[in-house]
Amino acid sequence: MIEKREFYIDGQWVAPQMARDHAVIDPATEEPCATISLGTEADANAAVAAAKAALPAWRATPPAARLAMVEKLLEIYQARAEDMAQAISLEMGAPIDFALKNQVASGTWHITNFITAARDFEWIHPLGDGTPGAMIAYEPIGVVGLITPWNWPMNQITLKVTPALLAGCTMVLKPSEESPLSAMLFAEMVHEAGIPAGVFNLVNGDGMGVGSTLSGHEDIEMISFTGSTRAGRAISKNAAETLKRVTLELGGKGANLIFADADDDAVARGVKHCFNNSGQSCNAPTRMLVERAIYPKALEIAKATAQATKVGNPREHGAFIGPVINKAQFDKIQGLIEAGIKDGATLLAGGPGLPENMNRGYFVRPTIFADCTPDMTTMREEIFGPVLSIMPFDTEEEAVAIANDTDYGLTNYAQTQDPERLRRLGRALHAGMVELNGAPRGAGAPFGGVKASGRAREGGRFGIEEFCDIKSISGWAQEA
Ligand code: NAD
Repeated sequence: MIEKREFYIDGQWVAPQMARDHAVIDPATEEPCATISLGTEADANAAVAAAKAALPAWRATPPAARLAMVEKLLEIYQARAEDMAQAISLEMGAPIDFALKNQVASGTWHITNFITAARDFEWIHPLGDGTPGAMIAYEPIGVVGLITPWNWPMNQITLKVTPALLAGCTMVLKPSEESPLSAMLFAEMVHEAGIPAGVFNLVNGDGMGVGSTLSGHEDIEMISFTGSTRAGRAISKNAAETLKRVTLELGGKGANLIFADADDDAVARGVKHCFNNSGQSCNAPTRMLVERAIYPKALEIAKATAQATKVGNPREHGAFIGPVINKAQFDKIQGLIEAGIKDGATLLAGGPGLPENMNRGYFVRPTIFADCTPDMTTMREEIFGPVLSIMPFDTEEEAVAIANDTDYGLTNYAQTQDPERLRRLGRALHAGMVELNGAPRGAGAPFGGVKASGRAREGGRFGIEEFCDIKSISGWAQEA
């Protein structure tokens, strides 16, 4: 059993001020795999004090020197990719090959894109022609609190820690108590990269404890949060008194519009995307809207794809999906599958209960509902499991209206060969991101949503800007 009770504060691993053990449960076995500590307000305060003390020197460090340390961090991250994959697989159940090739790799991708963005970033530049002496400067916002979820642990941690470091902020990270092992390994890497003491601090804890201490802390200038819409609201309220910046990446209920002229792979691609990471992705395309002319054929393909999706032990190699994170999430998903049946949707594949090849662990059967209607629970609630809801549509206008009729607005998807329609849909779908014909987001593109998905913009140049205050300077003396 792994024992990791310490926190990383001011460049050292320190014992919690009060013992509060917390068992990390391996979702594949339902057994504890590690013991960590849940921090208290005193631990969080110590980390904030260290970050505050380190801020003047770090913000005065030239951007090129900060960049060199982040480049070193990337080297270490890549060298220890296998260890990281093991940690992620154990704590949140990602199959080991998926953990390495997708979970760990997402972190590599984000750090690399931030490095590219930082190389070209103009930390101070003229406002524009016709305004002589007017300058725009990007300055670190200060001490930041970073609160992350368990579903893509390194994706989210690198999306926050990297730009904060590059911008000259100092920080306290509170990773999810469900996935603390990868975060602690990342802290070791930050240490090894030579990031000065106090710049990066990590305190484990839960939302009500360390999380709310950070969001309400008067010495923290910004909270960058990824997680549920529920917690996003609580954080915003708690942060209001101190008027700090709050950036939120929250839930989603992505629509995937499949037109009759879509490429042959469109339906299977959409199903696999929904089931990816056991359906635990905020940007998953969980509502598939299919043009009626190809609806029967699409259902056949969707059913066959679901039946071909294997569920397996995350310690084994191969392409399959693992368990969902915990008992609460398993029970919630089971309840939503029951709701789909009760609402009258057609159960095309999967259903309640464990997959046939499993007798323990939080494994969910890859499930598809067909003939859904927009008001059904499975079409409205974020399920965060391998459950896809499908319904037919007749016109483009109708499809867009259904897609946009949701509380969320993270990523929407469309599949058609008609270039004009692609351009129309790219603009008409109300979301922070639209992905057309399976094209992935570009390197350095901003990740974020609208409405209940939150309005953060993470990644690349946009992600660095989030950690900056923009200062206007006039009467600037030009260098001779
Ligand atoms: P969660 O909101 O329960 O927890 C996320 C983090 O917030 C954890 O570290 C938790 O300890 C902390 N937290 C919880 N309540 C808090 C509070 N009141 N104050 C401060 N911190 C608090 O979410 P989760 O179950 O870990 O993650 C799943 C959710 O995250 C899903 O809704 C998913 O859509 C969302 N998500 C969004 C994105 C995105 O980029 N939009 C990415 C991944 C996950």
